[in-house]
Amino acid sequence: MDFGWSQEETMWRKAVHDFAQKKIAPRVREIDEQGIPQDILDGMTEMGLWAPTVSEKYGGSGLNVTMATIAAEELGRADISLALPVMYLVQASWGHVFERYASEELKAEILPAVTSGKLFLGIASTEPGGGSDIEGVTRCAGAKQPDGSWKLNGEKLYISGIKESLVMGSAYMTLVRTDPTAAHRGFTFFSVDLKDNPNVSTTLIHNWGRTGISTGGFTMEDMPLSDRYRIGDEGKGFYMAMEGYTYARALIGATCCGAAETALRMGVDYIKQRKSFGKPLAAYQGINFPAAERYVDIESARLLTYKAAWLADQYYGGKSKLKQKDLALWGAMAKLRAPIMAFDTFNEVANWLGAMGYSKEYPIEMGIRGVRSYSIGAEGGMNIMRMIIARELIGNDYTNPRN
Ligand SMILES: Cc1cc2nc3c(=O)[nH]c(=O)nc-3n(C[C@H](O)[C@H](O)[C@H](O)COP(=O)(O)OP(=O)(O)OC[C@H]3O[C@@H](n4cnc5c(N)ncnc54)[C@H](O)[C@@H]3O)c2cc1C
Repeated sequence: MDFGWSQEETMWRKAVHDFAQKKIAPRVREIDEQGIPQDILDGMTEMGLWAPTVSEKYGGSGLNVTMATIAAEELGRADISLALPVMYLVQASWGHVFERYASEELKAEILPAVTSGKLFLGIASTEPGGGSDIEGVTRCAGAKQPDGSWKLNGEKLYISGIKESLVMGSAYMTLVRTDPTAAHRGFTFFSVDLKDNPNVSTTLIHNWGRTGISTGGFTMEDMPLSDRYRIGDEGKGFYMAMEGYTYARALIGATCCGAAETALRMGVDYIKQRKSFGKPLAAYQGINFPAAERYVDIESARLLTYKAAWLADQYYGGKSKLKQKDLALWGAMAKLRAPIMAFDTFNEVANWLGAMGYSKEYPIEMGIRGVRSYSIGAEGGMNIMRMIIARELIGNDYTNPRN
């Protein structure tokens, strides 16, 4: 067992840390109020942080899961609102899935444009009927045409990056039912570009958190699509969706750890200098005991997160007999703990700051608003994490909600 970092990992962390602290951290309020500025996005591309898990063959950085997780933590440390970390992690996790399953022809068309920051690669699985029960509620339908092409119909909702993709163009990994008779084996992924698409209309949703990246929806009406834009085999979409969400959950864990540590350090600086009843706040156990608890909570979530990442690297490196369901378990454990840990940390620090904690002078409120997106639903709600964990612990026969 080895809990150390390799030289490569240490150097990568430092490079991302330095970039993020210099270019991103001072501008988080601007990100929250106006969206991620183009020069920051350009900087991300130069750093190789735009879909960095895509291999060098397609212009990516070829990061493994641990390296991608390190970058996620550093981006979370810099942007406590979590908007930019989400922009990063969506493309890192789904870029990985895209490369694993798309045809050579499609990868050559899409991925170099993504890794050079010209195209947004997103995920569109959720619909107005819900996101947790993909099998039960997905209504978007793909009808195969006699010439082998497709016609897509239906609506996707609560999708990250809609506004950005209307500007940049997009490769949305869009989950569609292509066989109504085949339960969860009846789904297929397609790559959909929303920009200037005459068969697509879009909407925007006004979120109250992580507002630096947009959320919205799109409707496809008799949208013709060549079979060239199918990602992976017909009927395999559900499995690919689970794989992508599992990947994203490790990265989410890391963004929470980074952001929570920023808040904790900020709070510690404050309680050391703020005096009450003649002493620094930090001298009171009512303050420093919770600080100690939050410190352990962050480290606990970090251990879960990096174990999830490490296991994924064993799996993708072919070095073990692990299965996707093992990765799903650890991804779910990280996702169950880290956002709650970060929320509790922000909340605690807000208490220490007193009235200042309720003002926009400190970024804590951005963290509270941002991290709730993770526990409310993004990449799966908390009960869905509990469901995955209970399934592994107790068995599918007992825990499957369809039984
Ligand atoms: C900011 C934001 C960005 C998002 N970005 C994207 C995106 O880019 N792409 C995308 O496809 N989706 C995206 N989503 C949607 C996200 O994937 C869904 O919110 C999530 O899957 C949950 O679906 P839902 O919101 O429809 O809740 P529902 O599925 O309606 O569930 C509602 C609540 O009930 C719980 N629940 C459901 N079933 C059970 C059960 N059997 N037992 C106990 N509890 C249960 C859920 O955990 C949740 O708390 C985003 C969401 C947010 C908030």
